[in-house]
Amino acid sequence: MVTAVVGANWGDEGKGKITDMLGEESDIIVRFQGGSNAGHTIVNDYGKFALHILPSGVFYNHTTSVIGNGVALNIPDLVKEIDGIVEKGVPKPKILVSDRAQIVMPYHVLFDKYEEERLAGKSFGSTKSGIAPFYSDKYAKIGVQVNELFDEVALGEKLEGVILKKNIMLEHLYHKPLIDIDELMATMKEYAQMIRPYVCDTGAFLYEAVQNGKRILLEGQLGSLKDPDHGIYPMVTSSSTLAGYGAVGAGVPPYEIKRIVTVVKAYSSAVGAGEFVSEILDEKEAEELRKRGGDGGEYGATTGRPRRMGWFDAVASRYGCRAQGATEVALTVLDVLGYLDELPVCVGYEIDGKFTKDFPTTGLLKKAKPVYETLPGWKTEIRGIKNYDDLPENCRKYIEFIEKEIGVPIKMVSNGPGRHEIIYR
Ligand code: GDP
Repeated sequence: MVTAVVGANWGDEGKGKITDMLGEESDIIVRFQGGSNAGHTIVNDYGKFALHILPSGVFYNHTTSVIGNGVALNIPDLVKEIDGIVEKGVPKPKILVSDRAQIVMPYHVLFDKYEEERLAGKSFGSTKSGIAPFYSDKYAKIGVQVNELFDEVALGEKLEGVILKKNIMLEHLYHKPLIDIDELMATMKEYAQMIRPYVCDTGAFLYEAVQNGKRILLEGQLGSLKDPDHGIYPMVTSSSTLAGYGAVGAGVPPYEIKRIVTVVKAYSSAVGAGEFVSEILDEKEAEELRKRGGDGGEYGATTGRPRRMGWFDAVASRYGCRAQGATEVALTVLDVLGYLDELPVCVGYEIDGKFTKDFPTTGLLKKAKPVYETLPGWKTEIRGIKNYDDLPENCRKYIEFIEKEIGVPIKMVSNGPGRHEIIYR
């Protein structure tokens, strides 16, 4: 059986913690999209870790971690991350990398940076990890799959053709140093050595695993609103963040994905530019929530950038759950909200004077004004509570209000960053 853990919002919903938790009961954990541009924060018995490319299952002895074909694989980042956790005392994890995964090339990272510089004030707020140039090349069919690293002659010929075009851009658009083929090939040789021990046909491995009834967990990065098709285009990421894409990016039958745990955050946060209707505009109020948010504040796991803060957006979250095909919701970081006298919840948008509960396309989203309903706060610490009924009444009312608005059962409520700080309903 295949379970997916995905986000309903803008990312940073706390998927890492939920994956880590569900990983305990899984055999295989798969990353199926994205790259090392975003990150999960995981707190466990070994310490606190920010993972960017490794699946959250790497801390268990009994699981195999898979980097699927849909991932943007940055080889030095992966190796650095493996070394980093081993140095902190985590037993060396079992990792398999798809021979069809494509490689983030050194020039992808440079192009990402140069393009953001060129766009200046109009930039996308990219993490400059090379993800957009990577996926552009993948779909332009000039990307490099992992297996190609092991045929140096063919790779050299291919890359000569690729850098011909890249160098024209570097010279005339960006006015930057050109790519040298010999230097690039030397790097490819290093990459081949670094990745060789992990490479295999992960599609075949997962096929067999499904046949044998193994428990497979697909771990999504970012959330629905960053999906290139269903999100706030163009302020989205470059690969699909949806559970449905898990079938493609991991290589498992779509009908095997039976459980779609969609992580929804009890308030909103977003990184980078883009429409964000329920954003808290009062900077003091936003900073208060940012400071208290997550585990040690709402700052990007990859970049350290302060996240933009907002009230719970039921319109965006309902839409985000629908896009994922959510079968259940895990509501996270609820404990953070205990300081508030009252909690505004965005229950609809007003667009051109009309009220709607439907999440609109980007052009209309720019005009949307939040319509809030305000719920009373619970003014108390809820960390440590294990049973739903022991939560303060106003806290339960907040959860049940959200559940009604999003229309998906909330089966887990997370009330702290630790692996076992969870309330099942
Ligand atoms: P992800 O990308 O969806 O995995 O989200 P991140 O890991 O970037 O952000 C979630 C942050 O919230 C991390 O710092 C987590 O340790 C923390 N976190 C997760 N669940 C909870 C929770 O229920 N309460 C608190 N206080 N922090 C949480």
